[in-house]
Amino acid sequence: MTRRSRSHFLMGTIAVFLLCPGIALAQFDGGAPPGSPGREIIHLTGDLYRVRDVRHYGMFFYTPEGIILVDPTSPDTAAWLKGELDSRFDVPVRYVIYSHAHNDHAPGGEVFADTATFVAHEHMAKNLVQPADGAPLLPLEALRDANGNGSLEKSEAGPFANNFARLDLDGNGSLSRSEMWAPRFGGVRTRPPDVVYRDRMTITLGGKTVELHYTGINHTDDMTVVLFPEARMIYTVDHLTPKRVPRMTLDGGYSLLPDWLESLRRIEQLDFDYVSPGHESVGTKADVSEQVRYMNDLVEAVSAGIAAGKTEAEVVESVRLEQHSHLMEYEQSHASNVAVAYGMLSARQGP
Ligand SMILES: [Zn+2]
Repeated sequence: MTRRSRSHFLMGTIAVFLLCPGIALAQFDGGAPPGSPGREIIHLTGDLYRVRDVRHYGMFFYTPEGIILVDPTSPDTAAWLKGELDSRFDVPVRYVIYSHAHNDHAPGGEVFADTATFVAHEHMAKNLVQPADGAPLLPLEALRDANGNGSLEKSEAGPFANNFARLDLDGNGSLSRSEMWAPRFGGVRTRPPDVVYRDRMTITLGGKTVELHYTGINHTDDMTVVLFPEARMIYTVDHLTPKRVPRMTLDGGYSLLPDWLESLRRIEQLDFDYVSPGHESVGTKADVSEQVRYMNDLVEAVSAGIAAGKTEAEVVESVRLEQHSHLMEYEQSHASNVAVAYGMLSARQGP
């Protein structure tokens, strides 16, 4: 991006932002107003684009030597995107970066396999492999395993209870790690990464740079934050959604605390101004700080309740965090987040 286009981009964003913050980022993001097509490419700034598939967003970055794509999303979306990229640009996709292994973001990249190198955090590869019979439950699943038998009966299955019979493939009345893996990974195969990294990786192509950062366990144990330095923008999926309460759901399997909070704090330390999330609208660094405050307040309030000897029900009743009630999905997610936090933090404190 030239200096002129960058300053114009910033001035335009800030000017509208000061007038009407709600509208500014919707315009910036390109939005998805009623009547929008199911899929679209949204130009963000310079050579950086979002790719929307209904409520899922990936990204791509054009360079003169090839395109760097993040999260193909699905086989249908990737096939459509390949056609769009081939018609709009004169270079192939050279890299496919995965944010994490979940099958509503990662599949479909094989249409780019003849030209692209696939990159992910080192934990992603194992998450694509179906766990063996008897594999241990993930931390959040283990927390719900009240009778400690290594699998979840219907009364322990939380959000999996609705589809319990369909998921219980062996019909033994409980869900194993392998059976709970299936909805997130089964059915749609994701091409495994060719290259993995542990803490940080830099990709340079066509004179441009993209950074991959691992900030620890949050929604999963394999999450990559992608930083586009030229645009001063990061891409975050499921663990950091601007203006929305985090979903600390069982099907992520982790939601470890205080790990998730520490991960958000590490992201806050990165050098960026904007956030392009895998869901919802583009936000700013202030939205990241707001997520840090929510998670910090949650951990502090629930820890205080545990220290005071309160039961889970008493803590769920009393920890309302009304200062965060303006966030999207507060009513839907907050009480269950308190319950998850109670379980995680009391388990960490030990007997
Ligand atoms: Zn996910």
